[in-house]
Amino acid sequence: MNEWTVVEYRGYKSKSEKTDWCSLIRQKVNNLYTRYFDEEVILKRDYISLLNTPKQLYYQWKNGVEMDSSELTTIIDEAMNNAEKLKVTYQKQKMSLPWKDYKKVIEGFLQKILNNCKLIEDYEDKQKSNLYDFMNEDNFYIGYICKYLENEMKQWQKKYYGVRNHKKYKRCKLCGVLIENTGNKRMYCIACAKANELKNATLRKQKQRQNELSRNRKC
Ligand SMILES: [Zn+2]
Repeated sequence: MNEWTVVEYRGYKSKSEKTDWCSLIRQKVNNLYTRYFDEEVILKRDYISLLNTPKQLYYQWKNGVEMDSSELTTIIDEAMNNAEKLKVTYQKQKMSLPWKDYKKVIEGFLQKILNNCKLIEDYEDKQKSNLYDFMNEDNFYIGYICKYLENEMKQWQKKYYGVRNHKKYKRCKLCGVLIENTGNKRMYCIACAKANELKNATLRKQKQRQNELSRNRKC
């Protein structure tokens, strides 16, 4: 475990060139950091798809679809604008944790995994099948550890946002924090809901005052 406390996070790389199990797990740890904490890298499908708009249009044009250049500019500008908006939304949904602290969190997860790791024989007993038929032992452990890390990260995220265990979650429309999806029309976290109420009340008062003023002027 000491070995990888010296590892640096060097931005996003989805695949490791190395395929030994240590590199694969390290890659998983990296990817989890990207997904949950790195504000600079957004990997959500809708965002990526918007960024790919010019490329998609290029291929359509190459395949003989007729296009008007001003129309194209409008489509691309709009896509890039929407991508920028989405990026801000998704950036708000990232948690804040320096890489060095993240490594400590992961160390805790790995310790837990090592303590709980089932031996492959136990697993096979339960499943009543022979895993060796279709996967080797290394793959089994790598898969197990990656799944475990992913689950632990999800639990950690709930603690970070202070939400209870719930079936569904959603994001606060304003600040992006995780909130429980209780099925009603709840859109904001408690803090944002309060701030929003205050803002609306102030606006109402301003309007009232303006109405009174204009009424007085008429008199
Ligand atoms: Zn909020």
